Amino acid sequence: MRLRDEFNALYQDEDFRKFYPTRGQPGLAPWRLSLVTVFQFLEHLSDRQAADAVRGRIDWKYALGLELTDPGFHFSVLTEFRARLMAGQAEHLLLDTMLERFKGRDLVKARGKQRTDSTHVLAAVHDLHLLELVAETLRATLNDLAAIVPEWIRAIAQPVWFERYGHRIEDYRLPKSQEKRQALALEIGADGFRLLDALDAPTAPAETGKVPMVQTLRDVWRVHYARDDGQPRWRAGTELPPVGERLQSPYDPEMHYSTKRQIEWSGYKVHVTETCDDDAAHLVTHVMTCPAMQPDMASTADIHTCLANKGLLPAEHFVDAGYVDAALLVGSQRDHGISLEGPVRAVARRPSEAQQAYEQRHFTIDWEREQVTCPQGKTSVTWRAGLDDAGAPRICAIFSRTDCGACAVRALCTSAKEARRSVYFHPRPQYEALNKARARMNDPAWIERYHIRAGIEGTLSQGVRAFGMRRSRYIGLAKTGLQQVCTAAALNASRVVHWLAGTPRAKTRVTRFAALAQAA
Ligand code: SF4
Repeated sequence: MRLRDEFNALYQDEDFRKFYPTRGQPGLAPWRLSLVTVFQFLEHLSDRQAADAVRGRIDWKYALGLELTDPGFHFSVLTEFRARLMAGQAEHLLLDTMLERFKGRDLVKARGKQRTDSTHVLAAVHDLHLLELVAETLRATLNDLAAIVPEWIRAIAQPVWFERYGHRIEDYRLPKSQEKRQALALEIGADGFRLLDALDAPTAPAETGKVPMVQTLRDVWRVHYARDDGQPRWRAGTELPPVGERLQSPYDPEMHYSTKRQIEWSGYKVHVTETCDDDAAHLVTHVMTCPAMQPDMASTADIHTCLANKGLLPAEHFVDAGYVDAALLVGSQRDHGISLEGPVRAVARRPSEAQQAYEQRHFTIDWEREQVTCPQGKTSVTWRAGLDDAGAPRICAIFSRTDCGACAVRALCTSAKEARRSVYFHPRPQYEALNKARARMNDPAWIERYHIRAGIEGTLSQGVRAFGMRRSRYIGLAKTGLQQVCTAAALNASRVVHWLAGTPRAKTRVTRFAALAQAA
């Protein structure tokens, strides 16, 4: 209700006009559906519960500007509304429109401090082990084909298929011994190849090409089976592609398996960015949902671009080490004027002679002359700019065979068989940015300032515990992304109401035992 009082029109029909036909009026005002969606995620309700709340709750009616006698709408309207947003590729509209209104009230502004972290999102469908995956993929394909070309599928199906794929494949129904499971896997492999051969034959009905599950079957079989002399076999671990190309379930081909520290999950990953200035409400400015196995670093530049498009770039962006590398330190400052505030990874040390070994930091670089001087006072003879294995720019300086061959401390410098030392380092801007970032990590003032990053953990916790951020309600990356945007909008609505009411922000909770240490 407070939100309605403060932001009479948080959303307007104009914001959604392009998603509706130009002729006639939409049955239900899009601004109301937007608000219902935000309230739905605010209270962690299903579509059906949200529609019931519109019909029966006085606070919702007030906030939506409805008469007490208003009959509301069928819950499927909410699905249709989300489908319109998805079709218009406007998944971010609910959050971005809200932020625009908040900007108008100075509740959120650019060039302050922001912080980002990610958390895992469990997929809506459950993970399958390999035997379940192949069997369930074949079963799902047969089901989809049976709905479109029943006579054709009846003609090619083997009698045993009706028993083998007639019901859901679940682990407790599968054989227990390894030998029987292996034999079953090969039979399923042969069944799949038989179906794929029939689909590839010129006599296959054209409609079969339009069944998405057929492509899923092709992908699963390509990854997990090979055919030697016409006989199927499991592919060996060394033949498997990266985890990003492997499916975990035929029912959500975009979910992937990943691990982070001790956590293993199948699903997605969401990056949450929020403002963190002391004198303003802490509001989520961006959420980005991505494949589970994608490293955090791959999202840093995209997050900055999205914040720039919203006119909400921070001056300082606090992140953990996963979001920072030399190129991002330079690129953030150069492209957006952002100081990327995060620790950088330490330089890898040679395991042996760790104390005395000559590392990159012991060499002096003369950028103008393009020369490097070693701790023994020798200068490099070659300076070569190139790319590392990941395609990032690197410079390689090489010392002379004569100098290194005669060097008394060569064992401390290089273990390479070739009797000369090579030193690899970033181009100058990245090198200097990296050194500066490493130096600040030892500065107590910076360490104190960096504590502000930890607050994002509380936001993620709030999103998970109060708004259902951890588990996807929907199938697929785009729909999961839409859910996370709705969650962020709900979180912002809750925070703005508390901010305007003057409710103090919650402090980090500590256990009673830990509190004793603080009090001492
Ligand atoms: S091995 Fe070569 S580069 Fe290393 S300290 Fe000796 S002379 Fe210098």
